[in-house]
Amino acid sequence: MTRARRSVSPGAFDAVCFDFFDTLCVIDEGRYFEGQRAVAGMLGLPFDSFFRFWVEAGKAGQIGDFQTERDRFLHVLARLDREISGPLLTRAVALQQEVLLDATALHLDAEETLRALQRAPGYRTGLISNATSSAFLLFLNLRLPQFFHEILFSFQVGAMKPARQIYLLACQRLRVDPSRTLFIGDGGAQELDGARLAGMTAVKIHRQGVLELFRRGESRGWDRELNDLREILPDLGV
Ligand SMILES: [Mg+2]
Repeated sequence: MTRARRSVSPGAFDAVCFDFFDTLCVIDEGRYFEGQRAVAGMLGLPFDSFFRFWVEAGKAGQIGDFQTERDRFLHVLARLDREISGPLLTRAVALQQEVLLDATALHLDAEETLRALQRAPGYRTGLISNATSSAFLLFLNLRLPQFFHEILFSFQVGAMKPARQIYLLACQRLRVDPSRTLFIGDGGAQELDGARLAGMTAVKIHRQGVLELFRRGESRGWDRELNDLREILPDLGV
């Protein structure tokens, strides 16, 4: 951890922004891979090549090149030089979504923290997530929209962490100053470095069992660290 630039204390912040994957929710790796094997099997595709192209298409999906999972599938099928019928594709898209919903759960400390912030007067809350369109349904399924004033998924806004743009857009939408905004994340995609460059105070949540496959670039600096999200509440006077 690099030296804290700012203390986290009541009255110092107007808004708290959260990362989604591995901060608020966790993906069960075993279930996820089992499900992906089932999707490849349904399509009659060898798992290894299907999954390689699926993961490869993830970044394009996160920046918004695919607005639906169906489009991501069509891209992967084109890469594999395969065509499948419309009804089968529809079933595969549905199964893929089911796999993600089934494999993902909220972290135990997430809901309590979000509820406490919701009850606390004055704090604005935002979500800043590098995600493909499948994350949106997951977010709904986990009943998270109620806790956020603004929700920024990279595939919708066309910008990804750690680019300053996505943090500044969140602050603009929340009508808060970055210097009075906390960003809390597990640190993947150099999101904490990006938050600091945008002028926010960065808070790292230490998480076990993160899915390494989707991690690209660890954050190098942050201002405060937590082992449980609830630890931030007293600092915020909540
Ligand atoms: Mg994360």
